[in-house]
Amino acid sequence: MSKSEIGLLGLGTMGAALALNIADKGFDIAVFNRTTQVTRDFAKDAGDLAQRITPTENLKDFVAAIATPRTIILMVPAGDPVDQQIAALRPLLDDDDLIIDAGNANFHDTNRRAAEADGKPFLGIGVSGGEDGARHGPSIMGGGPRAAWDRVAHILTAIAAQHDGTACATWMGQDGAGHFVKAVHNGIEYADMQMIAEVYGVMRDGMGLDYTQISDVFEAWNNGPLASYLIEISHKVAGANDSLTGAPLLSVIRDAAGQKGTGRWTAIEAQHLAAPVPAIEAAVAARNISARTALRAQGQDIFGAAPVSLNGALDIDQLEQALIAGKILCYAQGFDMIARASDDFSWALPLPDIARVWRAGCIIRSVMLDDMATALAENPDENLMFSKRFAGDLRENHMALRQVVAQAALHGLPMPALSSGLAYFDAMRTARGTADMIQGQRDYFGRHGFMRLDRDGTDFHGPWAD
Ligand code: NDP
Repeated sequence: MSKSEIGLLGLGTMGAALALNIADKGFDIAVFNRTTQVTRDFAKDAGDLAQRITPTENLKDFVAAIATPRTIILMVPAGDPVDQQIAALRPLLDDDDLIIDAGNANFHDTNRRAAEADGKPFLGIGVSGGEDGARHGPSIMGGGPRAAWDRVAHILTAIAAQHDGTACATWMGQDGAGHFVKAVHNGIEYADMQMIAEVYGVMRDGMGLDYTQISDVFEAWNNGPLASYLIEISHKVAGANDSLTGAPLLSVIRDAAGQKGTGRWTAIEAQHLAAPVPAIEAAVAARNISARTALRAQGQDIFGAAPVSLNGALDIDQLEQALIAGKILCYAQGFDMIARASDDFSWALPLPDIARVWRAGCIIRSVMLDDMATALAENPDENLMFSKRFAGDLRENHMALRQVVAQAALHGLPMPALSSGLAYFDAMRTARGTADMIQGQRDYFGRHGFMRLDRDGTDFHGPWAD
């Protein structure tokens, strides 16, 4: 029997979908899963694609089923499972066999694994798009040795989403560069979702719209500048009914957001890089607050419910404009963080290509990313909010963002991501800020010194120095 061109280990939600995608594109694939029954069921349900799939029930058979030099994709939970599988596989492999970790690894782990590979080919790739993306075309962000990427690029580009004939699969740089870009993608995703949830809250609680009306608003927005996967699914989620009770689905879902950690990693890494991403940090904090349901109920008992009803103070167009401005600001922060990491880690991350691979297949795909790719191609070193196109959009829409944030604040509607987006905008357009006070305070209590506006030098002190 001829050997498979590639192997995949871990037939969970993502792994199974990715394996079918690979087989669908004409590549023979060997598969293995820790729980054997899962492998058997997968092969049984593969239909016509089964002829391209070689199911195996132990690691030795799995490795033996793959043509040399081998390529093996790991699709298991991030963390220990990845290390365990690498440790189990390496003794069975040749030195030029390539292992690819395609899960959501922390890029620091990918850096470490790349070093531990000690010259044996290892790639860390970020895969975005959820189960449907993995099955029909995800967005793929690769990191590791360029030669290893080139070896497998024909498969990765074949299975990736396509946008205007271009595959959404790109090599980002060495070591953990791909997983880093994927983490920032997820951070942006957190902020985008949070901003959508905030305007949903205004519509539901501030304007008294019912779920069908809210669904209709998202549907209408999906035909304009906000057109995106997240707005499209918000329309579907708001319009769905619960199969158990027939009630609107959202009315029965607990308002406590889950998370697997990638948004948190982005926020933590942003702090290490001194990259300002307040909208992403606010979105992570908002998920943490949302999970504290009992505490929030206690708070409502103590302080009473906020008035929330806006009594016509805002209209739907203002919400759309606020979301446009908020979205630009949150992407500007994400790309600024990528630029910062690119310098700090000497990665030369390709910013326009990153915008391009996010245009299809991934969760944050949107029409706006087309223009972002163009703006970043014209001037990769410029903050997106200053680019001609997006500066124009911000000029047009920031007043609406201001109105929405102000009305939300007056009526007690929490708006952490949009309000921090606005604060970022205002801080970034203020040439003379207020950190002179902070520098004065630091010098007063710690003799840290300050720079002056009127003289050169870095170590001036206030009158208390004497
Ligand atoms: P699932 O929980 O659906 O599947 C996990 C798979 O890993 C199963 O095949 C499981 O095998 C196997 N596994 C778990 N622990 C071990 C272990 N210690 N050793 C060997 N195999 C193990 O996860 P997903 O498919 O959702 O996620 C896989 C990776 O993809 C994760 O890193 C995730 O963050 C990432 N990802 C997920 C996305 C999603 O939308 N779900 C989107 C993008 C990335 P068994 O059947 O034996 O339990």
